[in-house]
Amino acid sequence: MNDLGPDYGAVDDDMFVARYRARCHCGAVCYEVGADPVDAKICHCRTCQSLHGAPMQWAAIFHKRHVRMTRGIEHLRFYSGVLDRPGRVPPCKVSCALCGTPVADEGRRMWLAFPTLFEFGAKGEIPEAFRPTCHIFYGQRVVDVDDGLPKWSGHKNASDKIDV
Ligand SMILES: [Zn+2]
Ligand SMILES: [Zn+2]
Repeated sequence: MNDLGPDYGAVDDDMFVARYRARCHCGAVCYEVGADPVDAKICHCRTCQSLHGAPMQWAAIFHKRHVRMTRGIEHLRFYSGVLDRPGRVPPCKVSCALCGTPVADEGRRMWLAFPTLFEFGAKGEIPEAFRPTCHIFYGQRVVDVDDGLPKWSGHKNASDKIDV
């Protein structure tokens, strides 16, 4: 296995033009994306909090065809937070087995990348398309965020908004 499957960009596809590159902390796992994300959100759900060891998770969403692994696919570890067991059953968590970095969430149709793994050039400026558009599962938050973005109690456009 040298790629993530037919839904994803192929390593030998000459038409694939890398736009941004991402890597885990140890560098064993590297991948690239060939487009801007379609959306970016910050999730405050309990599952993200525990699986990331962090108060919230920032994810940028890509179509799978715009994602391709360039190194370390053999080091990927998959875990289903839904089934509570290891395994590649989307939606599932993808991490580096060597350093433990959460690499992405693999959805059924989309790849939810973590922008903090990306190299954004010398100045490290976050491209506009990666900026969060909202907070989701804000009802489960452990810290308040005063940034003026919409706050949803659950999923975006499918739950109540929380006034802050
Ligand atoms: Zn790693
Ligand atoms: Zn979450």
